[in-house]
Amino acid sequence: MSDCLFCKMVTGEIAPDVVYEDDDVLAFRDINPQAPTHVLIVPKRHISTLNDLEPDDARLIGQLSLAAAKVAAQEGVADAGYRTLINTNREGGQVVFHIHMHLMGGRRMGWPPG
Ligand code: AMP
Ligand code: ZN
Repeated sequence: MSDCLFCKMVTGEIAPDVVYEDDDVLAFRDINPQAPTHVLIVPKRHISTLNDLEPDDARLIGQLSLAAAKVAAQEGVADAGYRTLINTNREGGQVVFHIHMHLMGGRRMGWPPG
């Protein structure tokens, strides 16, 4: 999608701080980190929200979690623990409409989240 911020990162039109990449997934540091480690993991293919997933996307969504675990290990937060989440639409707090998994770690997370 030409006007999508995260698609522009996938194509390289905007250069994010990449921490992990494979054929299907890109992970980069959040520009406004809410924890010492705050990484966004996105599918390279544009999908707007969790509501837009098709059955054929099941593997791709699984790949986001696998990438998150790899990044957590790489960042040194895997054992202490970390949080992964996907915001969906207005009340979920979604601002960028290209599915992304947040990975946050390096501090104790509160519950429930705000
Ligand atoms: P969400 O609210 O779940 O849609 O999260 C969007 C996230 O994208 C926020 O945490 C922003 O800080 C982050 N973000 C926005 N613009 C950029 C950017 N240019 N590079 C990296 N992260 C960004
Ligand atoms: Zn996109």
